[in-house]
Amino acid sequence: MENLKLYNTLTRKKEWFSPLDPPIVTTYSCGPTVYNYAHIGNLRTYVFMDELRRTLKYAGYTTRSVMNITDVGHLMSDGDDGEDKMASAAKKQNKKPEEIAEFYSSVFFKDLERLHILLPEIIAKATDNITEMIDFVKVLCDKGYGYETDDGIYFDISKFSEYGKLSRCNIEDALAGARVAVNTQKRHPADFALWKKAEKNHIMQWQSPWGMGYPGWHIECSAMSKKFLGDRFDIHTGGVDHIPIHHENEIAQSEALEEHKVVNLWMHGEFMLVDGGKMSKSLGNVYTIDDLIAKGYSPLAFRYFCLNTHYRNKLNFTFDGLDGAATAYNRLRGMISACKSAQKADADTAQKVHAQKAAIVAAVYDDLNFPLALGELWTMAKYACREVYDIAADLDRIFGLDLHLPIEQASTDIPAKIKALAEKRFAARKAKDWATSDALRSELDALGYTVLDGKDGYELRIKN
Ligand code: AMP
Ligand code: ZN
Repeated sequence: MENLKLYNTLTRKKEWFSPLDPPIVTTYSCGPTVYNYAHIGNLRTYVFMDELRRTLKYAGYTTRSVMNITDVGHLMSDGDDGEDKMASAAKKQNKKPEEIAEFYSSVFFKDLERLHILLPEIIAKATDNITEMIDFVKVLCDKGYGYETDDGIYFDISKFSEYGKLSRCNIEDALAGARVAVNTQKRHPADFALWKKAEKNHIMQWQSPWGMGYPGWHIECSAMSKKFLGDRFDIHTGGVDHIPIHHENEIAQSEALEEHKVVNLWMHGEFMLVDGGKMSKSLGNVYTIDDLIAKGYSPLAFRYFCLNTHYRNKLNFTFDGLDGAATAYNRLRGMISACKSAQKADADTAQKVHAQKAAIVAAVYDDLNFPLALGELWTMAKYACREVYDIAADLDRIFGLDLHLPIEQASTDIPAKIKALAEKRFAARKAKDWATSDALRSELDALGYTVLDGKDGYELRIKN
């Protein structure tokens, strides 16, 4: 196993990585709330999760990674206000929350596949783990951290003396920052809900010691990480927006329950901006991968675009920037894949190529410095020898960019029979005959082909 340095949000330092039980590395990543399409900003965070997991694997570790699917409990604000996001989407679309969750989860998984994001070993749905959440809340109440009000069970942050250590804000700041309490029964405005009591017609509710209700969002991650990874694990990831509330609350819950540190290393991906600002529906700048495909960009060009900025830096999305990334990506892929039929290098050049490989690997082992690694990869590609192809094919385990495969492979190598099946599926899809379309997708899948649907067409890919 190789030595890695990773940045820990908790200590604000890069640290030598030392797992609890090598070669296994346990990781937990906050997953999507499946009430809507994931946008490219959300997906940047999962590309970051993937960079980490691929790097760990390349370094010789075995990952045991969990990603949750939030299908209940995430309210409109990250605090305890507003309607449940799932319930709200269900109402608007006149569907059951399960249908909403299933639809957007399947689109999300399709997006992950298109972006070559490897699936974590364990995918945990919140609604499958309600019993564990109730048990968790019960223990917190027994230990004096949880208290009951008319509308739920709350965590008393004043009982957890280290509250605020991740975002480095103390309890006084948290109290001052919390909005004037709507719920006057809370002991402190910044106390957060562990469990909410459901109004009679609330769309999702479960039996609990406190009557019918549903879990708070933060308890999901504490309960599921405990269930699948135990009372201590190596790395927890998420986007930077989670630092001040969601992850602070997870630490409070988990450490209050276990009475010791639970997560060794906290890692956070910075935000993606669009045209220098926040993505928002009202500005019309919330893009999905389907939107990019419809505009003619390949998902892997977007992946390259993400890798080219360090995960701890903000990434400003513009179509000019994506154009640049797509051009660079295609050129690099063209250069590397052409090396398959190139001559072997002389001893001197071969040595230089191997030195470049070492530089690439050293960059990713230094807190996932993929922008530097890509720079070194460009330098390596310019040697244009067979070794470049072999090394790039091996390194693709980290990059996930198919750099060694010729771009034309996607369309030219596809037999007529497969193309005909894909056409039939497209026609069924256009006619909204989802059953036939899904059956044909499965058939194609079994034959080794993936169909990527865009707004007005589709793309057929050979599965790797
Ligand atoms: P959500 O589905 O809202 O729970 O978010 C899923 C993930 O996307 C979380 O880890 C967020 O931190 C992350 N996220 C949300 N917005 C952005 C953004 N603009 N850029 C990067 N990550 C984001
Ligand atoms: Zn979480």
